[in-house]
Amino acid sequence: MKPVYIVRLDDAHPGQFQRGWERIERNLNEMGIKPIVSIIPQNMDKSISLEKGSETAFWDQARKWQTNGWGIGVHGLHHLLRTGHRSILPISDYSEFSGKTCDEQLSMLTKAVEILRSNGCVAKYFVAPAHGFDEQTLVALSHLYPPLIVSDGFGFRPFIQEGIKFIPQQLWRGRSFSFGIWTICLHPSTMTEAEFAHFNNFARCNLASFSTPLHALNFKELTSLDRFWRLIHTAVFRMKKHVYGIIKSE
Ligand SMILES: [Zn+2]
Repeated sequence: MKPVYIVRLDDAHPGQFQRGWERIERNLNEMGIKPIVSIIPQNMDKSISLEKGSETAFWDQARKWQTNGWGIGVHGLHHLLRTGHRSILPISDYSEFSGKTCDEQLSMLTKAVEILRSNGCVAKYFVAPAHGFDEQTLVALSHLYPPLIVSDGFGFRPFIQEGIKFIPQQLWRGRSFSFGIWTICLHPSTMTEAEFAHFNNFARCNLASFSTPLHALNFKELTSLDRFWRLIHTAVFRMKKHVYGIIKSE
């Protein structure tokens, strides 16, 4: 069984670094790769606002992505990160959602989806800023209709847990595996020359593994094998984080 790679592009919003986004879009189009793009509905995070940008031009671009078959994800609501609240994943200490009540989170999610809808985009995926979500986020997600698929978590294949579908996101650069389904998260606004070169080279060398359409992914109920994998992956991740630190995880 060959591995499947999925690309996810994070932090799309009007203030994104346009040249980086145009470059990755051109590269992906040349290779016929359809990524998930995670859009911040109403960005208030000044640290990632790199250009003045135009709302009208941005949403025109987002609708073109959707028409081109890219999966549309909702990346929080305002991308306002705070710390001090425990999230399920050990990736970051920051979150826009964790620690808030289920009602607050449901209200944020509903508003986020509505902002995309009012701009002609249908959100199909939920991408928590900084991987920060907790049990209340999952309860809130279970109340959303139509449901969103969570693009996050550790695992080697898409799974369903308590009625919610997950596509794991485990990588921040291309890395070869002999099996499994792997999401590579990229931040086009801040990608370096070396990161563009590495990704393009990896994608071209493994192009057949990037061709699975998002809608063709198969979701299975979480098994003990998935839980075991997650346990090991979490332990390895914590160790790497302790030793090397983690960058570009927002
Ligand atoms: Zn982000």
